[in-house]
Amino acid sequence: MPGKLSPETEQAVRARIGYFRDLGVFDFYRREGSPPVENVIETVTDLKSVAAPAAQVDLETTPPMPRVRSLPVINEPVKPVVPINPKDRAAALQAIRDDIGDCTRCALSQARHSIVFGDGDPNARLMFVGEGPGADEDAQGLPFVGRAGQLLNNMIVAMGLRRDQVYIANIVKCRPPQNRVPEPIEANTCAPFLFRQIDVIQPEVLVALGATAATYLLGGKSPLAALRGRIHQARGTKLIVTYHPAYLLRDPRQKKEAWADLQLAMAELGVKAPAKANSETSS
Ligand code: URA
Repeated sequence: MPGKLSPETEQAVRARIGYFRDLGVFDFYRREGSPPVENVIETVTDLKSVAAPAAQVDLETTPPMPRVRSLPVINEPVKPVVPINPKDRAAALQAIRDDIGDCTRCALSQARHSIVFGDGDPNARLMFVGEGPGADEDAQGLPFVGRAGQLLNNMIVAMGLRRDQVYIANIVKCRPPQNRVPEPIEANTCAPFLFRQIDVIQPEVLVALGATAATYLLGGKSPLAALRGRIHQARGTKLIVTYHPAYLLRDPRQKKEAWADLQLAMAELGVKAPAKANSETSS
């Protein structure tokens, strides 16, 4: 195959990628006119299984980094949960917010009005993760406060909970222009802050709202239909995948399916729906 790397070079390249990952660099781009590289490294799994510790790489002799296709989805492996005192959670979340600062780490900062950090109970047992703020969220600095948020509120009430008992955040904290799906470089830049929030809150159940949340929480892309209806693991927590409320607004027929997903979460949490639950999800 033209451009195939020798095993030694390939190993060194993979080690170099592991080194960059340790530094927090997750995306690599090919420059115009660069030679083709056949050994495109596609998945996180590949990287995790082969990346040698950076210390073993002789940086003098390691060949230059090949330009590999942008890694579409990178997630850190599930971390062992470090116990955290419930009383410290609010301060720990504030420390993450302080680290974010007036963020300009990615292009989404250019047009945003607010950084939408997250909202809810730092000790929540249930955490919802959406894609990214929309116009209402950007204006108010809070997640899910527009029409999709109203439906999410109804879903939470239908589960027998109040919004202030759960925690809600997004994969990206700044509004993508025209509400487009966040680019991998944007999501990969921002998601580590979300992961830290999850590690602080340590919810018993995470609910991924839509494909973008599922992709970045699970560290790989799969059709939503293949992910729904079962319990996954993400960051040491049970993860359930369901439709995004904005999708449910466009196709209300799927609400029944979403309700089945939420019931899975309720069973895990041991919470029961109030008597009128079904009518409330449909509003
Ligand atoms: N859609 C999202 O994914 N997140 C929000 O906060 C609002 C709408």
